[in-house]
Amino acid sequence: MNNKIPVAILGATGPVGQKAITLLASHPLFYVAEVAASEGSAGQTYGERVQWRNEIPLPENVAKMTIKPLLGVTSKFIISALPTEIALTTEPELAKKGHIVCSNAAAFRMHAEVPLLIPEVNLSHLSLLSKQNWTGKILTNPNCSTVFLAGALAPLLALGSFEHINVVTLQAISGAGYPGVPSFDILGNIIPHIGGEEDKIRLETKRILGTAENPLQCGITVHVHRVPVLHGHTVAAHVHFSKPVTADDVTQCFNVIAEKDPNFIKLHTAHDRPQPLRDLDPHDMRIHVGRIKQGDSPNTIGFISMGHNLVRGAAGAAIAVLDAYVAKFGA
Ligand code: NAP
Repeated sequence: MNNKIPVAILGATGPVGQKAITLLASHPLFYVAEVAASEGSAGQTYGERVQWRNEIPLPENVAKMTIKPLLGVTSKFIISALPTEIALTTEPELAKKGHIVCSNAAAFRMHAEVPLLIPEVNLSHLSLLSKQNWTGKILTNPNCSTVFLAGALAPLLALGSFEHINVVTLQAISGAGYPGVPSFDILGNIIPHIGGEEDKIRLETKRILGTAENPLQCGITVHVHRVPVLHGHTVAAHVHFSKPVTADDVTQCFNVIAEKDPNFIKLHTAHDRPQPLRDLDPHDMRIHVGRIKQGDSPNTIGFISMGHNLVRGAAGAAIAVLDAYVAKFGA
């Protein structure tokens, strides 16, 4: 472990923090050196304080760690899994002190100088870091549904420009943190509202597929839903291209990426896949696409994109951003 890079996890007791801990337990480059959470948790042993809700057992070395206050961490590299309102003040404080903060929170995703990254899609946005005045840096990963929309749309830009995209999401309850949505509200039910989510998906997707200064010029209309699924967000998208595009063109496009990078895109051809329950594993970084079909116009294509909201949609995404940072700038 000594030749690996130490990482501190902020918000370590929440679902995203827990997933970061299990992902880093087998990471070739990084290891969990410190865990931090609220003042109420600081000073307690992680294993005693946490309500562990991960399929993978809590690593013993992390269970024994004493939880630190947020500003008490010393590792250069930080994964922040804090609520947005706490991230807003804490992340710049840590960047001022020289830390490299990769954040899951929405606080700085749309900041003009902060990269919002899917490394396989817009690595060039790392250049925004040179504009930051903090001694350290802040980098962000997208909202947990944005990543499944923007990640699937990115290869399709090679087929032509988009005129409009209609999106419907079906989002798992683990996306709402723990304990999250009351069981009275979600069991046997669908809630057609998640505060602020539709604007995040719309604006973040345009920024990722364009640039911070010049977002993608295309309308995106989004309806979000919370559904009684534990893990796994599903996104149904109808893309209206500026010229005719066939379902075969789109399938071929996903196929090329899936063969090149199977850890990024997984293409499903069965008529009833992808499904969260059948197709996700606990450390799944893949964006699962399927149900590709021609719409009711030669310019319209429909498809489904699905993935693990706590992995590719949160903790795994932040680790991938950290990986990309170290690959470019070193540790
Ligand atoms: P969360 O409920 O947003 O955050 C829980 C963590 O934040 C706990 O460790 C908690 O510590 C800590 N915390 C809460 N209030 C605090 C305070 N006042 N000061 C310091 N720490 C505080 O859980 P989450 O679902 O894991 O989400 C973390 C972040 O990732 C959020 O910004 C969320 O929007 C974002 N995100 C989540 C998902 C997802 O699928 N869940 C996906 C993408 C992005 P204590 O245990 O001590 O209270």
